[in-house]
Amino acid sequence: MSTPSFNELGLSQPVLRALGEIGYTEPTPIQLEAIPIVAEGHDLIASAQTGTGKTAAFTLPLIDDISTREFGPGDPPLVLILTPTRELALQIDENIIEYGRYADTRSCVVVGGIAVGPQIETLRRGVDFVVATPGRLLDLIERKAIILDEVEFLILDEADRMLDLGFVHDVRRIAEYVPKPRQTLLFSATMTAGVRSLASTIQTDAKSVSVAPPATVAENIEQQVMFVEKEHKPDLLIDLLKREEVELALVFTGTKVVASQVARRLERSGIKADAIHSNKTQSQRQKALDAFTTGKVKVLVATDIVARGIDVDGISHVINYEIPEDAENYIHRIGRTARAGARGVAISLCCVDDISNLRGVESLVKQALVIEEDQPFHSSMVAGCLVASTRAAKQRARAGKGRGSGSKWAR
Ligand code: ADP
Ligand code: MG
Repeated sequence: MSTPSFNELGLSQPVLRALGEIGYTEPTPIQLEAIPIVAEGHDLIASAQTGTGKTAAFTLPLIDDISTREFGPGDPPLVLILTPTRELALQIDENIIEYGRYADTRSCVVVGGIAVGPQIETLRRGVDFVVATPGRLLDLIERKAIILDEVEFLILDEADRMLDLGFVHDVRRIAEYVPKPRQTLLFSATMTAGVRSLASTIQTDAKSVSVAPPATVAENIEQQVMFVEKEHKPDLLIDLLKREEVELALVFTGTKVVASQVARRLERSGIKADAIHSNKTQSQRQKALDAFTTGKVKVLVATDIVARGIDVDGISHVINYEIPEDAENYIHRIGRTARAGARGVAISLCCVDDISNLRGVESLVKQALVIEEDQPFHSSMVAGCLVASTRAAKQRARAGKGRGSGSKWAR
């Protein structure tokens, strides 16, 4: 049976024309499943692997719906999309403008770190979509510069992140401003039971769609781990980045300080690199991301602020300079490669300090990462520590004192 086309999903001509020009020939699995549910007016909680077109899955049916309405100057927004980072909000706004180019869609970004005046001015002229980060949105709500009384669609992209401790309080406050009945849509590549139960506090009779089991790594990502002593990590990284097969590489560190240090070290060794983290100004952040997107800078060293949602074409490698403590972030980080069916390589550098995080990752992704020893700084000492820690975990489990940290997938 052939895949139904966008046409068969009932999308209107202006949207189909834009998709044709952009070059989307057929819907992705999450688009196939989610678009009809959104179009029928249901609440939805949807998960699908990174890079599989979730943005279009929620924006296309909404652009379609909105395009049938009467427009007027000064219209308050009908759609509110919340994201965890400014960069992701800007990207989704670009997608809306792209997909809605023949539907006269009006969209506005409401994010911190940039001047508020133009945002207020755009809102005053009238918009259909607002794509926002929670902090600046609450600021504008308090200033009465935005009215959410007419919002009919509330979307949380990276929903599990939006409902975790860092954001849930703000998100709930914002949800209170959005009248009911409304349609509330949640999308992410990772979704825990806790998130689902929190979601039920802002949704009504939500349908659920999972294209793959939650926390499934995107297809086409080759995952490797390299054992290395901590002091050799910079040299190993330089060695990897100089390899011919590396086109664009995104390097993740655990902290801002390490991100800046690593970027400087790469520059000194002749590799064009920049750092992006929350201590940089928004214009520095945007400049770094733009330089990376256009290939002017081959390596971007980042904290988890770019782990979620960011879609840069041609990232051939994601390198975890440090393995994240939060295993879910591993899935999001490596999901910056192998997008829209492309291939990618994810390499995690593991020193003794990373071992427990590696075990957490392997337990979440339900597989042992491939050990790549063919590198000049391979450390059998670190490999030995992993074996010893696995053995100890098994013994603890056998003794009935398992603390739940042992991975059944560990070697
Ligand atoms: P996700 O949110 O699932 O991580 P995105 O919405 O960012 O993924 O989309 C990932 C990439 O796939 C983007 O570059 C987007 O342009 C592309 N894409 C989305 N839908 C399609 C489609 N139907 N056909 C081809 N490419 C698509
Ligand atoms: Mg996304």
